[in-house]
Amino acid sequence: MRAVDLIVKKRDGYELSADEINYFIDGYIKGEIPDYQVASFLMSVFYKGLSFDETYQLTLAMIKSGIKLDFSAIPSNKVDKHSTGGVGDKISLIVAPIAASCGCVIPMMSGRGLGHTGGTLDKLESIPGYRVFLDTDEVNKILNKNNFVMMGQTECMVPADKMLYALRDVTGTVESIPLITSSIMSKKIAEGTNSLVLDLKCGSGAFMKNIESARGLSRYIIGVAKRAGLGIKILITDMNEPIGQQIGNYNEVLECADLLRGVGDPVTMELSHRISGWMMVLSGKTKGIDEGIELSKEAVATGRAFEYFIENIRNQSGDIDFILNPKILYREEIDIISEQTGFLKSIDAYKMGLASMNIGSGRKTKDDTVDHYSGITILKSKGDFVRKGEPIFTLKYNRGDVDAAMKLCSDAVSFSDDPVERGSIIIEELGD
Ligand code: URA
Repeated sequence: MRAVDLIVKKRDGYELSADEINYFIDGYIKGEIPDYQVASFLMSVFYKGLSFDETYQLTLAMIKSGIKLDFSAIPSNKVDKHSTGGVGDKISLIVAPIAASCGCVIPMMSGRGLGHTGGTLDKLESIPGYRVFLDTDEVNKILNKNNFVMMGQTECMVPADKMLYALRDVTGTVESIPLITSSIMSKKIAEGTNSLVLDLKCGSGAFMKNIESARGLSRYIIGVAKRAGLGIKILITDMNEPIGQQIGNYNEVLECADLLRGVGDPVTMELSHRISGWMMVLSGKTKGIDEGIELSKEAVATGRAFEYFIENIRNQSGDIDFILNPKILYREEIDIISEQTGFLKSIDAYKMGLASMNIGSGRKTKDDTVDHYSGITILKSKGDFVRKGEPIFTLKYNRGDVDAAMKLCSDAVSFSDDPVERGSIIIEELGD
């Protein structure tokens, strides 16, 4: 077999066999197939696509590049939640303690933020001491104690994804449905979960800009999940507006602490209860989604979910004083003032994500360092009536291109003379 023949085969629109896909991935991992040939292969896939079967085989080949976690010693069904990435997307930090406090076992594996999107690991690491890299014994111990663990992908888990993703990032091949499917699903299957609730973001702040492509990705992910024997529920959700009232890292963690104590944005909590409800259904804790949502609300109302949140921070060596006694660790703040009077029609998630990146809360490149304590507070939501001169956002920062961030924030808002409804952000649900 030769790599060039497989590139040509895909370029000409033919289907690759499992052996051919394995040869390609294995050769790449071993350094036998160079980046330039893989880049060319990725571009062929980008244009010609992969069938369900090829996508499944690619997923398996990627899993084989590393180790698989094994939680079979823990008898319950394991469930995870994953998001395809958004702005202000703190939902994982909310649903994990809620669902864990209702008996779900959650080995949650998350990633870092890149570009305009945030990452759960960066948010967690804003809590001094919090460790996201744990050995297998520790993970099992924490799961047994508190039902959930929040961790990062180690070097030995799906190394093929790390290499392929880095190459996709610089070759314009990120937005390919089969490549996104194999990237997400290889990690989820390798982490040893039995089921998954996927929050598939759709809109300006997401990879999937429109509902058709979100549905297309859902079909592929459901196809791979079924073949791998994984329970799956997909929620396609709106990512045109940022989620909640904070964008950043530590400020989002504090927002989650408030939401878990029942205070904060109801739209964020509606999505959180729905996702934790489905986590309960998939792991067999409840029969239907309505019961799951009820349990989820009760876990917040009784304070049980917040206790699990704090216990997790303790278990992973984080300083709980940073949650119980919030700190201010940014030096400057500035309000973004409304230049108009009217109803807030939209807040563009993509521009807000870029604004936050410009004051250090996100990374322009994957080697950038993040300022965990900068961020943006959203003072007005879609649908609110705003008067000229009123503040809409507050930027809180230590460094960065503040002028660029301010301009992005001002450009992110649009107004209407007529009332605007702020409805649910759940667009549709697919899967089990
Ligand atoms: N998230 C992933 O893990 N991989 C992708 O390719 C896109 C989003």
